[in-house]
Amino acid sequence: MKLLEDMILEKGKVINEDILKVNSFLNHQVDCNLMKEIGKDFANHFRNNNITKVFTIESSGIAPALMTSLELNVPLVILKKQTSSTLTDVYQATVKSFTKNCEYNLTLSKEFISPDDRVLIIDDFLANGEAAKGAIKLVTDGGAQVSGIGIVIEKAFQPGRKILDDAGYEAYSLARIKSLKDNKIEFINTL
Ligand code: 5GP
Repeated sequence: MKLLEDMILEKGKVINEDILKVNSFLNHQVDCNLMKEIGKDFANHFRNNNITKVFTIESSGIAPALMTSLELNVPLVILKKQTSSTLTDVYQATVKSFTKNCEYNLTLSKEFISPDDRVLIIDDFLANGEAAKGAIKLVTDGGAQVSGIGIVIEKAFQPGRKILDDAGYEAYSLARIKSLKDNKIEFINTL
């Protein structure tokens, strides 16, 4: 997606050769017009997959996932990273955080999934595929089907893409980064 790649080049900050900071338009401040276009792109790509719900992981997946839900006219379910006394009767998956070097319990209340659901999982980044694997586990624990995975920024040089491909999931990324070496952002040419 050209608009997104241009934004990454203009405003993204290479932290090191593994991490890109996009706090000015996705992870902290949010560019809502960009989110709208992202939502349209994901919705157009997955429109024929009979999606019944969009799932995302709090908190950075929420903005693009919300716009996608609006476009597809289906509910958005936010998978929780923190458990709470108000969340009972849940499915859970342990996820190793890429950026925070810790583990958390991704949590889904059983009331928001049923075996009829065809779920589109949306997240901001794909790195090692841990968050996506956790979300997939919750969907399958609920007896539902993962009907697609939408990633805003894929770091294609990390293992997540291969893990999702090998497991047979359709992962669609709007920007695919080939390398962050030498403080330079290089994309896989998808245009
Ligand atoms: P994974 O679970 O695929 O290893 O990592 C994906 C998750 O880690 C995303 O939900 C995102 O929050 C975070 N993440 C991974 N790589 C980056 C990165 O380069 N920059 C930022 N800002 N977040 C990242």
